[in-house]
Amino acid sequence: EIIKSDFPILDICIRGKPLVYLDNAATTQKPKRVIEATTNYYETQNANIRRGLHELSEFSSSLYDETRKKTQKFINAQSSNEIIFTKGCTEAINLVANSYGRINFKHGDEVLVSEMEHHSNIVPWQMICEQTGTKLTPIHITDDGEIDIEDFKNKLSEKTRLVALTHISNALGTINPVHELIELTRKTDAVVLIDGAQAVGHIPVDVQELDADFYAFSAHKMYGPTGVGVLYGKKHLLEQMPPYQGGGDMIETVSFEKTTYAPSPRRFEGGTPNIAGVIAFASAIDYLERIGIENIHAHETALTQKLHEILSEEKFTRIIGNPKLKSGIVSFVMEGVHPHDIGTILDTEGIAIRAGHHCCMPLMKRLNLSSTARVSFAIYNNENDITVFANAIHKVKEIFYP
Ligand code: PLP
Repeated sequence: EIIKSDFPILDICIRGKPLVYLDNAATTQKPKRVIEATTNYYETQNANIRRGLHELSEFSSSLYDETRKKTQKFINAQSSNEIIFTKGCTEAINLVANSYGRINFKHGDEVLVSEMEHHSNIVPWQMICEQTGTKLTPIHITDDGEIDIEDFKNKLSEKTRLVALTHISNALGTINPVHELIELTRKTDAVVLIDGAQAVGHIPVDVQELDADFYAFSAHKMYGPTGVGVLYGKKHLLEQMPPYQGGGDMIETVSFEKTTYAPSPRRFEGGTPNIAGVIAFASAIDYLERIGIENIHAHETALTQKLHEILSEEKFTRIIGNPKLKSGIVSFVMEGVHPHDIGTILDTEGIAIRAGHHCCMPLMKRLNLSSTARVSFAIYNNENDITVFANAIHKVKEIFYP
């Protein structure tokens, strides 16, 4: 309840019922301190960064750089120069595809992605593969919703240039053994990008321990503002990568004959960034650290187990995926009921869930489904939310199975 009271939006009513927010994989709600940090920035700190010689600009620049250092420590990167701010996880992946991919992929090479990836970790690779004549190869998943390690081993070859894998599946909640998968990749020259959109803020992430070459995530899925994302990249890789976008702030010198570029991270942050968002993101990290990622993970795991117990006892209801390691995301279907109908009926009870393909159309195809209903937990959810949800599921059953 104390944690819930940190989130003003959780006091509102939807359709006359107290909001029960169970769509956290789409975006989490924001604690007061993040909202206040945004307001405070515009009220007392607003100035463009890295440009002005005046005090206000120096101040906002230093807050921006402090957030970079905080992010570095949060995921245990070696240097803050390995942290690039983007507008989201999607942009972070596009940056690697268009910069690293453009100079390293060639005809006959291969990029491996798993069948459970979000479109954000498929389409950017598909686009650069089309441009460079590289083959995009899917790694199969098992019926339980785990990456098929044997298939992965078989597909890894000297042709593999890059492997892009999600740390946690946004549709199934599977926690992938990314450390093990990265280790396997080390037998080749390929680099690995991990999509951490559903992992950071839910489980401990240490990019050095994982040995990830690139790691991408979004602030808005971890209690931070929208419009801010992070790309972590190993220093030696970022150093050889060309800029992704040209503009102000990413250069050393510009002339009509030749432009030289600033080192990372500035080389990849052309133009005025989301300064307010980045600065407020620091407050989200502080908030997560105060509660403790291990505590958050334990809490979300307990809620997931509880929800599994309830849904497994429901007739006509099937949980999708049965991985050994699972986060706070539960996808399910009900016989003869379209997931959109489940979502709509739950909405009339003030409950927000997601229903659809979850931006994972290839995964849905693999599972022979068009869509699922999905509950996803965050730190402020509690057993009462599950009780309200379970009662609403009974309403769905009353309507569809009278
Ligand atoms: N990857 C995964 C696994 C996701 O769940 C999402 C968003 O749902 C993304 C990438 C894209 O994140 P964003 O839309 O914040 O860029």
